[in-house]
Amino acid sequence: MLQRLSDISRTRHTWHNATNNVICEPLRFFYPQNKEDIIEIVNEAERNNLRVRAVGSGHSFSEVAKGNDFLMDMKLLRDAGIYESPWVKTGVQNRHFVMADAGITIRRLNRLLDKMGLALENMGAVDFQTVSGALMTGTHGTGIKRPAFPDMVRSVRIVGTGGKLIQIEPADGITDPVFHQSNSQIELIQNDEIFYATVLSFGGMGIVYQLVFEVRTSYYIKERRYLIPWSKLKVEMHNGSFMQMVQDNDFVALRINPYVIKGDNLASVVVQNVLPDGSHSGGRNFLSGFMGNLEPLIENTVKLANRKPKNTARRIQLALKFSKVIKYTDKNFKVLYQFGSAVLRYGISSEFAFEADTNKVIEVFEKIFANTVHNATYSDVYQPSHISLRFVMPSKALLSSAFGRPTMYIDVPTLNTTIGDFELLDSYQTIMMNMGGIPHWGKVNSKLYLNTQFIKDHYPKWQTWVDVRNQLDPKRTFMSDFIQKMGLS
Ligand SMILES: Cc1cc2nc3c(=O)[nH]c(=O)nc-3n(C[C@H](O)[C@H](O)[C@H](O)COP(=O)(O)OP(=O)(O)OC[C@H]3O[C@@H](n4cnc5c(N)ncnc54)[C@H](O)[C@@H]3O)c2cc1C
Repeated sequence: MLQRLSDISRTRHTWHNATNNVICEPLRFFYPQNKEDIIEIVNEAERNNLRVRAVGSGHSFSEVAKGNDFLMDMKLLRDAGIYESPWVKTGVQNRHFVMADAGITIRRLNRLLDKMGLALENMGAVDFQTVSGALMTGTHGTGIKRPAFPDMVRSVRIVGTGGKLIQIEPADGITDPVFHQSNSQIELIQNDEIFYATVLSFGGMGIVYQLVFEVRTSYYIKERRYLIPWSKLKVEMHNGSFMQMVQDNDFVALRINPYVIKGDNLASVVVQNVLPDGSHSGGRNFLSGFMGNLEPLIENTVKLANRKPKNTARRIQLALKFSKVIKYTDKNFKVLYQFGSAVLRYGISSEFAFEADTNKVIEVFEKIFANTVHNATYSDVYQPSHISLRFVMPSKALLSSAFGRPTMYIDVPTLNTTIGDFELLDSYQTIMMNMGGIPHWGKVNSKLYLNTQFIKDHYPKWQTWVDVRNQLDPKRTFMSDFIQKMGLS
């Protein structure tokens, strides 16, 4: 092995994800500093018939990032800058493109973009993930006309088999192929199937080292959160006014207490809209924001949930009441960020995609409510958190659970180490999958393992994805146990 590879790697390293439920001890763990390091790692692996995998921030609860041979942490690749002409074709030069290193976190990217007067179109509820990690599992936020990560990216650069540098874009990609060919050592592929297979591929096409986002000029968002009983919300869902609100506002989400208190379930609706200018006013409830960042407080909540489980319903109710926001305006990334950092170690969830349809929301929510009551009365197991609902626009990524249709996501978070946490997530998976819900690739999704028929039934383009993977990775260097368990090998 090259001295350089020894210098940037270690053996006997135990890697675990943020919530500690996925652990592996790879043969070698690398910290590449640039693409040349990644090329050497891939070449070394292929000389020894080993597999290669990258990890981002380890924020997936599923086994998607696990790798037993060569594993690399991308955190030292963390820069971003404008991707501009002459690389960009004429005709798209009035749009904004930013090239980001694979290991940059969303948090750092947001702040760098802000300094450039730019911003992402959307993000998930937190910003701890790396951009490539978020891309590879299809991380989404909310907004029925807003893209998830794979649909904000216009170009991906990977180190592929043989250590080859490849830049992948759609057929009508943003890069000028003639200029590129005469000025770059990187092979440019402009092909729809290859691009839309690669943007959500769990690292299965190669190691992403850079990607280009289409961004927009910086913007402010105004947020309002209000409380509404489920009985009233259900009427709005039945008569179409809730869905109209989802269509009419930029970002809409809701959280609901699965337990009935005073005869009803309480919901908190979050409505956010882009503002033309940046006047700053109000703020989120200070106490809830402050408490959300205190790990000891969450630890106590977990202890309480275990010691006094019967208080769970009231605790969720209180948290929803605290979350009320009359008027809050701030920079986009501050408003879209929804959680305190303390959820990092303790929040763990399964999340399911359905075609956006409020009749389905009612059916699914009422099933969950019935399940929580049954668990509480029958075995004293409690769902320790609210349930949430978010929306996203149709995706072009072949393995996106939002492929080709406006989609809603129902998230059932539990608190890691509360009694019955994983058993609850198991039961939600069974219930939701029977109702047609597609589990999130990055969240607890163990019921998908070896359930090849489910994947085939719910991902119409799965075979194209497999074909592209086989074409890009003939030596199976970027294959993983996760991809095999999903029946995508
Ligand atoms: C508190 C919390 C909140 C969350 N909120 C949301 C949310 O709002 N919406 C949502 O959709 N999801 C959410 N998630 C899930 C999370 O966004 C995804 O699981 C995401 O993939 C994690 O990114 P990561 O950087 O930690 O990547 P990891 O989990 O480390 O890796 C994810 C995948 O990317 C691959 N990968 C990483 N880097 C590279 C690279 N450079 N090249 C090739 N492959 C690579 C890995 O091999 C793995 O397959 C949340 C997770 C947590 C812990």
